[in-house]
Amino acid sequence: MQAPTIPGNVDSAGAPPERPGRSLVEAELASSVAWLIRLRWAAGVSVIVATWLVEAVFRLDAAARPLYAIGGAILVYNLAFYLLERRLAGTKSPAADYQRLAMWQVGLDWLAMILLIHFTGGIESPVILFFIFHIVIASIFFSPRAALAFAVLAIALVSGIALLEYIGLLPHEPIEGYLEIPLYRNGLYLAAVLFFFASTGLISAYLGSSIQERLRKREAEIVSLTESLQQATTRLQALNDSARIVGSTLDVPQVLNRLVRTSAEAMGVRACSIRLLDTSGHRLEPVAVYGLSQAYLEKGPVDPVSNPLAREVLSGKTVNVADAAASPLLQYPGEASQEGIRSMLSAPLIGKDGAFGILRAYAIEPDRFTPEDEAFLAAIAAQGSIAIENAMAYQAIEQLDATKSQFIRMVTHELRSPVSVTKSLLKTLTNGYVGKVTDAQQDILNRANRRIDFLQKLVDDLLDLATGKVEGKLKDVREPVDLAAILNRVADRFEVSAREHGLQLDYKSAQEGAFIILATEEGLDRVFDNLISNAVKYTRPGGSIWVAVQREDNEAWVTVKDTGIGIPQEAMQHMFEEFYRAPNAKELEFEGTGLGLTIVKDLITRFGGRIAIESEQDAGTTVTLTLPLIATDTRPIPPAEQAA
Ligand code: ATP
Ligand code: MG
Repeated sequence: MQAPTIPGNVDSAGAPPERPGRSLVEAELASSVAWLIRLRWAAGVSVIVATWLVEAVFRLDAAARPLYAIGGAILVYNLAFYLLERRLAGTKSPAADYQRLAMWQVGLDWLAMILLIHFTGGIESPVILFFIFHIVIASIFFSPRAALAFAVLAIALVSGIALLEYIGLLPHEPIEGYLEIPLYRNGLYLAAVLFFFASTGLISAYLGSSIQERLRKREAEIVSLTESLQQATTRLQALNDSARIVGSTLDVPQVLNRLVRTSAEAMGVRACSIRLLDTSGHRLEPVAVYGLSQAYLEKGPVDPVSNPLAREVLSGKTVNVADAAASPLLQYPGEASQEGIRSMLSAPLIGKDGAFGILRAYAIEPDRFTPEDEAFLAAIAAQGSIAIENAMAYQAIEQLDATKSQFIRMVTHELRSPVSVTKSLLKTLTNGYVGKVTDAQQDILNRANRRIDFLQKLVDDLLDLATGKVEGKLKDVREPVDLAAILNRVADRFEVSAREHGLQLDYKSAQEGAFIILATEEGLDRVFDNLISNAVKYTRPGGSIWVAVQREDNEAWVTVKDTGIGIPQEAMQHMFEEFYRAPNAKELEFEGTGLGLTIVKDLITRFGGRIAIESEQDAGTTVTLTLPLIATDTRPIPPAEQAA
């Protein structure tokens, strides 16, 4: 039952699976950067178109050349950003690269804005309001602090330009014809515009940042929810898998190996093992292991009584050891840390008679297991317990069955020879070879003969049954035989005894020709003999028996039908049990072992067929056999072989 370790998995199974692709937050940043680049195309074009409108349509006199240059510059640097962004997207670059790219974008945008404001009239420029957009955009990309710093920088730049123009250090570049009186030297106007610009900028940065901050928090929540949902799905899948194992196989090692593997994979841990109590109950033996080294498994015996962890788990608890090196529960902490195990989780395997083993998961990280893991492992262990118990019970039955059959075989062999010797001795007596026998003696000898005949049949039946059980599994001696010919022969054999019982026996084959199946001639003979002898035995004088065979698809259907005593409803379920005889049968016929149908069922199963019994008490019984045909031979049966 010892399961092999899988050394190949020892290292690879350890690390939890890496998250595929980018996180949600990173993906969000990347897409915002791309969005900003798309917006900027429109901004660059708008600057150029607006300058043209001012000049050509409104016929105002603006510093057209620098303005066109600014629009062109915006488009050029945006092209550079576009190419860079494509490259980052192609190489799945980390978030820091995107942050740097965003920083550069905002920096250059700020420069373009301030030049735009300067060349459209400084403090008189209507473009000033556009700076608010940029402040909002910055608060989307950066932390609240950085966004605030950018807002302050924008205010400083605008104020700087306005003041420099005010004191005349910077030339004033108005759009001629836009304002009737210049305002850039009006101190009150200057103060008012700067005050409102500054407060709007700061408030926008604050609002933008706090909305963004809330969104980020939500996003983080979604990320963690998605992750736990993913984990839950994997586990559900694993539970489902283990449920399937419960129903799909009765092979003990297979059940155990699949369980450890499924558990380790579903939890994403380094290793998993199952230890079961041995028959003495004094040792916990490793029977299935996934991801542990042989050296660790051979660390030493685990006694369910003296090992504190085992004792605790076998009392029915799921035990989480967060720090394997320091836990007083561990019997072999040194070996565990040598194996790289830092924490472990153990759940009991509990059967009908209490705990019988331990399912354990091992992790290379300390404090790896959560309460959800505990519940999960306990659930797997509960399901696994059923699978293991079922498989073990089946194994035990199989062993018992084999032992029983062997025992019967031995006993019957020992019985057979004394029975046949007794029979021949009785014959010597009845035939008068050792002296004349009186009528009274003859009568006793006849009765003794009948009893010994019965005994011989019983021994033969038992031997047959045992042989079928033991050898049927070991070797297949079937060969192609003609079912119709054998049925014919057996039906012929019963003609006389049927007539003596006052019964009408009728045999017919619905289609002429041979019915070739894979079987043994002797076995088939025995099957038909049993069925027809039952019909003869359990039908009262004046009744009828019909025996027939017909082809149905690729199967031969044999029916033996009688108008006999039938089988009581409550007896139907016991028909194939060894030694079972229905009460009405026992009443009618004293002799009988109750082994005939058991042998028939056994043989038919070995020949790949089925048997069905339909019966109504006091009305009759129909037994139907279905056997797979291997060739459709339509040669007619020679008339001599056909039954009357
Ligand atoms: P044996 O065949 O060993 O002499 P048996 O005939 O009693 O004994 P089975 O052939 O195994 O044993 O049949 C089991 C029981 O099924 C019978 O005892 C009887 O109760 C019932 N049975 C089988 N065939 C018929 C039938 N044709 N009509 C009525 N009862 C039947
Ligand atoms: Mg019988």
